[in-house]
Amino acid sequence: MKRTHKRTQTVAKPTGTLAIVLGDQLNRDAEILRRLDRERDVVLMMEVRAESLAPRSHRQRTALFLSAMRHFAKELRARGFCVRYVELDDEANTQTLAGEIDRAIEELSPRALAWTEPGDIRVRIDLNACAERANLKPTVLPDGHFLTSIETFADWAKGRRRLRMEDFYRWQRRRLEVLVEENGQPRGEQWNFDANNRRPFGKRGPEGLPPKRRRQPDAITQSVLALVERELPELPGQSENFDWPVTRRQALLALRQFIRNRLSSFGRYQDAMWSGEPTLFHSLLSTSLNLKLLGPSECVDAAVDALDAGEAPIESVEGFVRQIIGWREFVRGIYWLEGPGYRDRNALGADRPLPHAYWTGQSDMNCLATAVGEVLDRGYGHHIQRLMVTGNFALLAGVEPRAVNDWYLGMFVDGVDWVTAPNVVGMALHADARPGSTEGVLGSKPYAASGRYIDRMSNYCRSCRFDPKKRIGPEACPFNALYWDFLSRNRTPFRANPRMALAMKNLDRIPVEELDEIRRLARTIRQRLSADDLRTT
Ligand code: SF4
Repeated sequence: MKRTHKRTQTVAKPTGTLAIVLGDQLNRDAEILRRLDRERDVVLMMEVRAESLAPRSHRQRTALFLSAMRHFAKELRARGFCVRYVELDDEANTQTLAGEIDRAIEELSPRALAWTEPGDIRVRIDLNACAERANLKPTVLPDGHFLTSIETFADWAKGRRRLRMEDFYRWQRRRLEVLVEENGQPRGEQWNFDANNRRPFGKRGPEGLPPKRRRQPDAITQSVLALVERELPELPGQSENFDWPVTRRQALLALRQFIRNRLSSFGRYQDAMWSGEPTLFHSLLSTSLNLKLLGPSECVDAAVDALDAGEAPIESVEGFVRQIIGWREFVRGIYWLEGPGYRDRNALGADRPLPHAYWTGQSDMNCLATAVGEVLDRGYGHHIQRLMVTGNFALLAGVEPRAVNDWYLGMFVDGVDWVTAPNVVGMALHADARPGSTEGVLGSKPYAASGRYIDRMSNYCRSCRFDPKKRIGPEACPFNALYWDFLSRNRTPFRANPRMALAMKNLDRIPVEELDEIRRLARTIRQRLSADDLRTT
């Protein structure tokens, strides 16, 4: 069938300001929109192949961005804004952000440029280069979506020897007056309910999960899904199960459903994993937050309201609040504080390739096959699957951080650079230590664990051919051999880190012959990382 190519919508009047709105800046209340003159100014939004190909983006991640952008552009037009929207298959599309900005400047001759601070250092460099080429000084507005500006975080960090999330989080609680009493003490008499919040499920698995309801894609989303299949067939992942919120209305509904149906059990089971239940009691709000369809304050307020109404316990509400005003704002602060080059750090000198299994889900390690399979299926895995299965495996096996980071950035529907780089390079891979330091910037010690942790927190090991209790032999869980080998390979930096003292002591207890055997097994596994599967025998 002959395809008709589209043309970029042109604007038939002189342009005042060209305001660039990126795919993760869909905030209807953004300051940039308030400043625009709807008669003279033009909003530029762009769909470009380059953003889906480097790194390779999951089909659902690409479709989510494109569908949410199209809905947002439609809403802006309904509000009277003039929008120049470049679709992926526009015939003149240069397929890069910089190319499209240059083209828009050439065709519209704007008198000024404006944008909201991007969440990606690479994009910031690209936008500045466009402005320079056009000889226009841009107006760059801070991203008002966040509760902590880049400057406020830098002030908090100034003069501190260590930047620790817990210190930041308590400071945020007091500063923002969230879950604090009038005397400045924490509500519930504790800042942290982690001890209540790390429970595995019992033998029967999760109970009280709400029924799964699938949001049917509307016409815009359906056309975007078809577009992605047609124009970007090389992208990984499935697109069939797409049901992510793509409008503010849908995001608000998702927030309400989480508060009503899952928040009360969220805290207790936030670290638990279970086969066939990829989402459990998790909020699934990160896509809406990261696209700026939802604001952090409204999420926190809704959770605290549920606590006040007696509909959710303090440990769940505190755990959720910690994610939003603590961890999320903390990693963004670190991202901008550490700046360019952070995502390329490799403090432990990890150099193995990303396992082929991360693209196929083919592995005889049940935990890895399950976690990766769920990512391929929906572009989603919850935080413990990300940290303690796929992240832990990459850390222990010594996979090169840049490859791991690119996989997380592209393969998760909520992947954006300011989130992914600190979470992967800093938290999961412990690769962000500055020269001469044994501690990472983000974490004082690596989140490394053997198969026993996965066995305690999930039912994955029950149907795995490996035994999480064995360290050597054909049935030994690969996480065990890799864990002890990891400690052994990194003896020098870890011995200098007091928080690793217990782990190193345990390493020293392993008989020399057994450690030799463990290391041989680990070497075999590490040598097979780029093979078609992760079979270890
Ligand atoms: Fe994963 Fe090891 Fe458990 Fe198998 S036995 S599921 S490889 S942790």
